[in-house]
Amino acid sequence: MKDHALQWICSGQTCRDVTKRASEYLDDRLPLLTEVQVELHLESCAHCRAYKKQIDLVSSALRNLPKLYPSPVNRLRLRQQFAAHHGQSASDN
Ligand SMILES: [Zn+2]
Repeated sequence: MKDHALQWICSGQTCRDVTKRASEYLDDRLPLLTEVQVELHLESCAHCRAYKKQIDLVSSALRNLPKLYPSPVNRLRLRQQFAAHHGQSASDN
């Protein structure tokens, strides 16, 4: 029976599930059982470990963002990209 439970936990999360839940996992927002399943999957899957690491890097970079002021050139470029994306001038809001 123990093997059965272990098998169920191990088979609970696919790569797709894990990548979908990576940010919730990193924010500690998953139910405990799901968290255990994700951890077990990460133990056995290098691909998902790499993905998790990337998400972790991005979210810690985002957390530090207010301290990093973009240079005026970068700010202008960001504004232009935003305008291009949203099909409007960035100045009118
Ligand atoms: Zn995986």
